[in-house]
Amino acid sequence: MSTIANNISQISKRIRAAAQAVQRDACSIHLLAVSKTKPSQAVREAYAAGMQDFGENYLQEALSKQAELTDLPLNWHFIGPIQSNKTRAIAKNFAWVHSVDRLKIAQRLSEQRPADLPPLNICIQANISGETSKSGCTPDQLVLASAISALPRLKLRGLMVIPKQTKDRAAQDAAFTTLRDLQSSLKLPLDTLSMGMSHDLESAISKGATWIRVGTALFGARDYG
Ligand SMILES: *Cc1c(COP(=O)(O)O)cnc(C)c1O
Repeated sequence: MSTIANNISQISKRIRAAAQAVQRDACSIHLLAVSKTKPSQAVREAYAAGMQDFGENYLQEALSKQAELTDLPLNWHFIGPIQSNKTRAIAKNFAWVHSVDRLKIAQRLSEQRPADLPPLNICIQANISGETSKSGCTPDQLVLASAISALPRLKLRGLMVIPKQTKDRAAQDAAFTTLRDLQSSLKLPLDTLSMGMSHDLESAISKGATWIRVGTALFGARDYG
């Protein structure tokens, strides 16, 4: 087995164990392979090992990988910060966007979503740590969810968070519980909690994650050269 295939099987075991610990059906937890900084060959290997959903943070990098992988039926998720001048390309080339945090960006994505594609799946990124330097809506700003849910070419699915990194399980659990509570407080028909990464996926699953976004544990450490 290749390293990537082996990693995927390890992650699947972690998902099953974490789901079982809280009596969740492991099928309700989707694994997003975060391929940022990794070459298209690594995506091919992950696809061969059963992965179909890939997450990218940087538009140019994603577009060049997509161009090299047109022979594969992949679902691309945009998970990085979004500038207004990137919305047209994102609306055209992705199935999901997990990192919407402004109404203006959502409006542009809706206007620019090509008519021949299904509605773009959207998660609103929440900032629950109160760090103003971070992307994401503060809990107060999440009222924009109802305006986003009314946009015609988008399908609002739920919330996404990147909590402050910690090894402390209780702190991880508290952050993910906060996101889940925020999602229910919106009183909208949402089915997605995008939360949990390589180091905290067990906690996220215990608090209801439906997409976990895993890079390092799947593709190995990233080398930002
Ligand atoms: C890089 C990244 C991930 C993956 O993080 P790992 O710790 O490598 O698993 C998940 N979500 C987002 C938004 C990221 O930018």
